[in-house]
Parts: sequence; structure tokens; C-alpha cells
Amino acid sequence: MIKPGNDPKEIAVTLLKATALPDEQVFTELAEPKYTAVDYYRMACHLLFVCQRCGTCCTTGDPIRLRREDAARLAKHLKIPLNKAVKKYTLPDPDKPGVLDFKHIRPCKFYDPEAKGCKIYAARPWSCRIFPFLGIYGSEDRVKVNESCPGSMQTMKALTAALEGARKDPAFSSLSPEKVKLNKELLRNVLETI
Ligand code: SF4
Ligand code: SF4
Repeated sequence: MIKPGNDPKEIAVTLLKATALPDEQVFTELAEPKYTAVDYYRMACHLLFVCQRCGTCCTTGDPIRLRREDAARLAKHLKIPLNKAVKKYTLPDPDKPGVLDFKHIRPCKFYDPEAKGCKIYAARPWSCRIFPFLGIYGSEDRVKVNESCPGSMQTMKALTAALEGARKDPAFSSLSPEKVKLNKELLRNVLETI
């Protein structure tokens, strides 16, 4: 399933324009985070993706990781002190120092089976927000797709096919930095809304 109104061809064109030049040549401000071409591909996937609310990720995900800022957002959302939220809902990740995991998983304590949704949707951790197109932003790591997610493969397939067609247009090699920046910003906005 693809998001209604989101045409894979248009998104493929946006992606090709956004990656015609690297971030370093477009965002000269020092504070601007730099993203790789793989990051923009991941953002384009998010634009196309529609969650089918099957609940698989929330009922089988293990581990479900949280960053410190995720724990702080959770505490604020639940209106409890941070140390209480950390104690009640998280455990230190055994493999990643400084990283927390949700304590109650399979299913996640915050999954609502009746509504087939997340009870803390606005405060869900970053790892849930970027699922199923996981990976570390800022690296060249390829996009990791969770095959248990029914929407993810479909999204990747649609985008890959659309990219093949769009690449035939030679116009992407002669875009101005301003134009490239505009398309990068379109995709970057996706991270604000997931
Ligand atoms: S926090 Fe919400 S989105 Fe994340 S696994 Fe739990 S129920 Fe699912
Ligand atoms: S596995 Fe995929 S489709 Fe199913 S609830 Fe999770 S994100 Fe949505």
C-alpha cells in the first residue's frame, strides 16, 4: 500500500534531485546536520510508506531501544519524573552501553490490541518512528528493511521501480545547488513528521 496522493514517480524524482549533490555542497551552515544519499532514500521510503496496523512490530519487536531523549519524552508524556519512568519501563541494553530498552516487550506494554495502535504514539521512541526503514542516519549503512513488516517491501519495490524509470532523465546531473537544496529540504521534512 502506498500513501494516497504520494506518487512513487514524483518521490523518485525528488530523491534524485535531492541526491544530485552531496549535503556538503548545499548546506554550508556549520550547524546543519549532514545526511547521506542512503538517508535520503530512507526518507523517501517513509514518504511512501503506509502502516497496515498489523501490530507485528509492536508485539514481536525485541529489543525496543530508547535513547535518553526518548525516555525524557516518555516521562513528560506520562507526567512522571524521568527517574521513575526509566526505572518502571526500561532496562539497560546488555549489548549497547548507555542505551535503554523497553522492559516489557512481546508485546510492548504500550501496544493497544483493541485499537491496534500505540498508547503513547506521540511519545514513542525514535526506533519506533523510523521503523521499518531502520539504520543509522549520517552513515552509508544500507537501509535495513524488516521483512516481517508487510508494508516495507512493497514500499521499497515501488520506489526502486520508480527510480529506474526516473534515472533515464539526464536533467539530474545539471541542477543548481538551490534546486538540490529545495528537494533535500522536502525530504528532510519527513523526519519531522514520522
Ligand atoms: S512504543 Fe508504541 S510504537 Fe513502539 S513498540 Fe510500543 S506500542 Fe509499538
Ligand atoms: S509491522 Fe509494519 S505494517 Fe505492521 S504495524 Fe508495524 S509498521 Fe505497521
